[in-house]
Amino acid sequence: MHKKTYTLDVIPRTQHDISRQDLDPNALKVLLRLNKAGFDAYLVGGCIRDILLGFEPKDFDIATNARPEQVRKLFNNCRLVGRRFRLAHILFHKDIIEVATLRGHHQDASPHAKINQSGRVLRDNVYGSIDEDAERRDFTVNAIYYDIKDDSLRCLSQTVDDLNSRVIRLIGDPKTRYKEDPVRMLRAVRFANKLDMKLDTKTAQPIKKLAPLLQDIHPSRLYDEVAKLMFTGYAQNNTQMLQKYKLFEHLFPLLTSQVQAKAHNRTQKALSHIVERLDQESASGKRISHSTFYSQILWFPLLERIDDIRTESSLSQFDAMNVAMSDIFEQHNKSASIPKRCSNIIREVWLLQLRFEKNKNIRAFKIEEHLYFEKALELLKFRTQVEDKKLLSTLKWWQDFTQADQAKKKSMAQQHNKKRRYKKRSSKKDAASS
Ligand code: ATP
Ligand code: MG
Repeated sequence: MHKKTYTLDVIPRTQHDISRQDLDPNALKVLLRLNKAGFDAYLVGGCIRDILLGFEPKDFDIATNARPEQVRKLFNNCRLVGRRFRLAHILFHKDIIEVATLRGHHQDASPHAKINQSGRVLRDNVYGSIDEDAERRDFTVNAIYYDIKDDSLRCLSQTVDDLNSRVIRLIGDPKTRYKEDPVRMLRAVRFANKLDMKLDTKTAQPIKKLAPLLQDIHPSRLYDEVAKLMFTGYAQNNTQMLQKYKLFEHLFPLLTSQVQAKAHNRTQKALSHIVERLDQESASGKRISHSTFYSQILWFPLLERIDDIRTESSLSQFDAMNVAMSDIFEQHNKSASIPKRCSNIIREVWLLQLRFEKNKNIRAFKIEEHLYFEKALELLKFRTQVEDKKLLSTLKWWQDFTQADQAKKKSMAQQHNKKRRYKKRSSKKDAASS
């Protein structure tokens, strides 16, 4: 059934610049041990692509003709993972080297491969030759191998051309390849921005139409993909391109409905603000935590939801917020699910926003000790920039409070109590006289 397999081009060591010193020492150990045991072993994909383009590789992946069980026998520090795509993980302290067995083409009715009705690959454990494996990779620039046996490179004939002319091109028929795995649409966007490359026309063309296929992807996988798109320094460009290709709405459906409603251009403003900051922080080597990111990006959808709940019911602000928080997570998690440990933090950070406004008094001492006080203050700061300038005085109060010594704190807390009592009394008087 399957189409012809291309033979890979071989680039001998004398004709490329990658030396063993460029490689990760742990990956090198794994390659050498596999090779010594008589197996073929290659570094593959992103790591070689990145070295050739002058980037620092994120991870070093290995491909071999050893089966996962054979790999496990060779390494004590090895565990097998994955069902859809079975892999060996070799553990070195915090570092994990991923070893995949070379994949072949699917034969009909093989128990090792499974494709659903829309063409999505549910299982991909048919093993094959390096030539077949190359064709099963996503993009031409990722179909490149470093052979530890003789330090040569092997790649599709298109790979070098595309690396040189900086083109992201899917291998094979784009529609079929996106249907097999819709996440490739997100990977196309990510690589185009990270590597400063253009999407080949045929690779780009079907994306808008096929974007809804992302709905079939497991929400925890999408959550991981969103992290790669947002936290690696290219959040602004990725967001723009995801919007252009109609992918964004499947990752952040709550935001999209608001942005489209136009009534709330503050959501778009907030989004621009957040992604700009994400990139600034990445550039300066800092990391914004996932909880900070989601607490900000879902804040306005939360406010909308609270408003709706309060017009429909007589719930207090606090109760409405609790209901709204659950609704927001439930809806967002249908597309890209936020892990519980992260959403628990976000809930606390959101609830603290209410307390910031209400508790500029003796309770402030308790609030300042809250585990997520800093994160909550960060959200408050963000809100002053996109929400309501009135919040500035609240922010200032809390900033002053954290800077103050004990005596000053006490006086600030009492001061505020006095002011409030005075306000209450005078408003009662006003009411009585009117
Ligand atoms: P980075 O590590 O910078 O995200 P990468 O290209 O190394 O980029 P990985 O997710 O580490 O990406 O995958 C390693 C290699 O596995 C890729 O280079 C590609 O050859 C192959 N690959 C990964 N995901 C897919 C996919 N969805 N479809 C086909 N091949 C894939
Ligand atoms: Mg990689």
